[in-house]
Amino acid sequence: MRKDTFKHQGMRRQLVGLLVEKGITDQRVLDAIGKVPRHLFMDSSFEQYAYQDKPFPIGCDQTISQPYTVAFQSQLLEVKAGEKVLEVGTGSGYQAAVLCEMGAKVYSIERMKELFNNSSQILRRLGYSLTQSFGDGYKGMPAYAPFDKIIVTAGAPELPKDLLSQLKIGGRMVIPYGSGVQEMYLIERTSETDFTRKKMGKFRFVPMLKNKESRD
Ligand code: SAH
Repeated sequence: MRKDTFKHQGMRRQLVGLLVEKGITDQRVLDAIGKVPRHLFMDSSFEQYAYQDKPFPIGCDQTISQPYTVAFQSQLLEVKAGEKVLEVGTGSGYQAAVLCEMGAKVYSIERMKELFNNSSQILRRLGYSLTQSFGDGYKGMPAYAPFDKIIVTAGAPELPKDLLSQLKIGGRMVIPYGSGVQEMYLIERTSETDFTRKKMGKFRFVPMLKNKESRD
């Protein structure tokens, strides 16, 4: 079984230092990134690069997000312990683990069976307890709605209406919006019918696709 060694922990501390230099200030985000063994969410052939601030392939043409992006989105969410957070795009499970470390009650959806299975396995093995679903993130998880926070980790060509409707009043959603290059939107629900939007900078994500994978 692969381990989390002192060497990995040292590299993780350096990564946290780099994220501080790049402008991440939320100490709870930094502490969570300092705790989650990112290398265990990646294929062992990439393990030595796990604490570089870069995205890496996780199979199925998908990537584990760059640590800076994970930190930036987590910081924008302003997660507080006990809040219900919905993630769209479980992928490797790394972002979900960071949210668990921050004390959130995490719900995460993935549309590819293989990634759903792999992430469930590693998250369980590391002792993270969350609710995972294999399905289409455009639909959200109505059975568990409303959510305090929603984080989308794939590039959305449109703002998914079902996700907006599953947000609590006063809640926030962080979503990379656009095709090709995305603009990170911070959306706040201010009433039953009203939302505010702020643009927070440009990022590049794999696309958010409709429906779950057909070969399940
Ligand atoms: N949060 C992930 C990042 C994964 S990349 C991590 O920490 O590793 C984005 C993921 O979104 C991919 O796994 C992709 O399969 C998934 N995805 C894309 N469209 C989706 C949709 N409509 N519903 C659920 N997951 C989706």
